[in-house]
Amino acid sequence: MVGLLSTRDIDYLITVYEHCTFKGTARVVDVAKALGVSKSTASLMIKKLVKWGLIERVGRGIRLTKEGIDLCLEIIWRHGVIESALTRLGLSVEEACHVARDIELSIPKHIVDKLWCLLGRPSRCPHGELIVAGGMGRPTCTCRFNVVLKQYIAE
Ligand SMILES: [Zn+2]
Ligand SMILES: [Zn+2]
Repeated sequence: MVGLLSTRDIDYLITVYEHCTFKGTARVVDVAKALGVSKSTASLMIKKLVKWGLIERVGRGIRLTKEGIDLCLEIIWRHGVIESALTRLGLSVEEACHVARDIELSIPKHIVDKLWCLLGRPSRCPHGELIVAGGMGRPTCTCRFNVVLKQYIAE
């Protein structure tokens, strides 16, 4: 599944994940606002993600399906691992975050896993937020979400 998705698709999923963490469901208008696009652009994209089984409609809102959540968890983990590796190479956290967003989908999962092991299986990203699910609860690192926000505001 990860191979079929674009960075933009992930931006939408992570935005819905972020909103659902706090409110249970998200509204199309919130997603559109967060991503700096019109409501009709967001609607079209969400329609596609519903068709792919990653997002479902609940009443007047939307939320991630089980598959969508699993995918977001994998992306958060991928993002955090790559971010950690890049900061080890000397990049600033912010720089690492940007670069990680660009490459997180194109690195095969088993290589991300090797990197993760090499780093000592960290459970937190350089921002200090959880990147793996488990005893400590749901991953909280949505730094990627903030990068997206800043990017669209800057454009
Ligand atoms: Zn990040
Ligand atoms: Zn982070």
